[in-house]
Amino acid sequence: MPDAALADNPLLVTDGLPRFNQIEPAHVVPAVRKVLADASAQFEQIEKVIAPSWAAAVESLDELNTPFQYAWSPVGHLLGVLNSPELRKAHEEVLADVVSFSLRVGQSEPVYRALKEMKAGKEWSSLSEAQRRIVNQKILDAELSGIGLAGEKRERFNTIVRELSQLSTDFSNHVLDATKEFSIVETKPADVEGLPPSLLRLASQSYNSTLAAGASQGTEEAGPWRFTLEFPSFGPFMQHSRRRELREQMYRAYITRASAGPLNNTPLVQKILSLRAEKAQLLGFKTFAELSLAKKMAPSVAAVEEMFETLREASWSAAQHELDEIRALAAESGVREPLMNWDIAFWSERLREKRFQYTEEELRPFFPLESVLAGLFGLAQRLFGIRVTPADGEAPVWHKDVRFFHVSDESGKRIASFYLDPYSRPENKRGGAWMDDCLGRRLLHGQLQLPVAHLVCNSTPPTGGKPSLMTFREVETLFHEFGHGLQHMLTTVDYADAAGINGVEWDAVELPSQFMENWCYHRPTLLGLSAHYETGRPLPEELFEKICAARTFQAGMQMLRQILFGMTDMAMHAGYRPESPESVFDLQRKISARTSVLPLLPEDRSLCSFTHIFSGGYAAGYYSYKWAEVLSSDAFSAFEEAGLENEQTVARIGRRFRDTVLAEGGGRHPMEVFKDFRGREPRPEALLRHSGLA
Ligand code: ZN
Repeated sequence: MPDAALADNPLLVTDGLPRFNQIEPAHVVPAVRKVLADASAQFEQIEKVIAPSWAAAVESLDELNTPFQYAWSPVGHLLGVLNSPELRKAHEEVLADVVSFSLRVGQSEPVYRALKEMKAGKEWSSLSEAQRRIVNQKILDAELSGIGLAGEKRERFNTIVRELSQLSTDFSNHVLDATKEFSIVETKPADVEGLPPSLLRLASQSYNSTLAAGASQGTEEAGPWRFTLEFPSFGPFMQHSRRRELREQMYRAYITRASAGPLNNTPLVQKILSLRAEKAQLLGFKTFAELSLAKKMAPSVAAVEEMFETLREASWSAAQHELDEIRALAAESGVREPLMNWDIAFWSERLREKRFQYTEEELRPFFPLESVLAGLFGLAQRLFGIRVTPADGEAPVWHKDVRFFHVSDESGKRIASFYLDPYSRPENKRGGAWMDDCLGRRLLHGQLQLPVAHLVCNSTPPTGGKPSLMTFREVETLFHEFGHGLQHMLTTVDYADAAGINGVEWDAVELPSQFMENWCYHRPTLLGLSAHYETGRPLPEELFEKICAARTFQAGMQMLRQILFGMTDMAMHAGYRPESPESVFDLQRKISARTSVLPLLPEDRSLCSFTHIFSGGYAAGYYSYKWAEVLSSDAFSAFEEAGLENEQTVARIGRRFRDTVLAEGGGRHPMEVFKDFRGREPRPEALLRHSGLA
């Protein structure tokens, strides 16, 4: 390794903040190789002398992590916000080695034995609750990766893990390929009447991308247009296309993706389910659902089913009513035949237009980024007693638009900092929004490292002399990510593995983020942060009312849709036997009879493209979306019950939220944390009320 590549390599500096302004793709490979080589050598030493003590079995491993925080985490971050072919290549070159190193640490037998002995040793009783939870989680993680198995069982387990990984890759590739196989091309403007300009632009680009180099290009006004099954095309097409026969064609193609021919996922679904069941049994669980729940907040399959049933019952008649409204509108508009599955999105959209005549665009002028930030920070101060102050220029940044802030507590002491990368930058920034940790809070050798968060959004940048004007959706997203950021930054846990969002169960992690979203529907908060960029006027009252009404539009049908997915996911992983004569499609249809006011078509094969659970991390976990919503709504209702207009009460409950949910992070079981805050276990009533269903 040439020394030149290491001297002055910004990824090897391990103090202060990462040197984002100096990092080049060329730094990645040499720095990560060096860090990996050092860490591997140190880890070998640790394994040799490991003892069943906190210092030896936890802290020493935590120390190994420091160089990765500076050399590896920034690379992942920059892939999202400053992507380039060179950076991707560098990342790929070392990725496999980083993954194998972390697997080696997580699956180390000496470490596992030391952790197990710790639980039986003298030190155990002197450890804090957070420390014990960390040890227990590490043991569980190791066990779920098969460490407790020996001989044939171990071999079989490893084979299953490899096969499942291949199957999930195949599953997702089939979905991608099947999605690409289908398209509809239109050439006459009359045939695309009613479609929004943004969809026509996308469809025109899509058509042009299929042309040979040098062929004459179409335009978004004159066509041709190509509509595909990718969601940004499929979704708006179903909402806006006036051509019923094309909607039917699109819909049928969509629900049968990857269900026939060489891309058929049906056998993969069967295989995945049976391997998952076998894997769970090898690890001592009755079903895969139990294995999945072992690492989650939800106590049992029964508890999840109970939540679903409560939500389902409360949504059913509302959903029927919503469907009747759509039918009535279609009939009024002259539709004679009964509405079919491919008509629902279209007529829902007409009803929405009729009822809430406003567009996202109309709201923008009221939400300049600066006012929104001021309102958000003001809210955080009222609720949690924290002060956010701009500190631009104090931190190296990767782009000139990136802002930097400090967070201090009521005594004025700094407790955290964060970056905000607010604007969309399609050329090198990933879409969507996210919170990520830059540095986590931890106390090592008497030195406290304060947490630093990355908040990344894709809001509209300032253009043509106008400031950044946000849509309401973008405002909500900013509140959401800030909520994640608060949990990362206001943690009081001193151990990296349980500080902030680390160690928080997956079905509880959206609690603070969705909790913050609720404030966007709180009149004084939203009106307070809105200020027309020209006149300074707040959002008009009637627009606020419409935003609130739109929130609960068709809430019953939407709720049932998520329940259908969630119940099917759970049923497939709990009681279902892949070898039984009942197919997964039969199973889904059976559930749909109680969860869909308009039944699924008999030929529906949408499970064949359900990537969340067959190639993502949501297996026996899709319920988490609703579970977390129950938590966040119920948490918000603590403020409602006490009276949102009473500033003192709001401040008091806000401090309690800070001291429990935000401060305790992964240091306690989320059910205990929730009970500390709410005084009881979560209940679904508030979610139903916020959805207009109770
Ligand atoms: Zn989130």
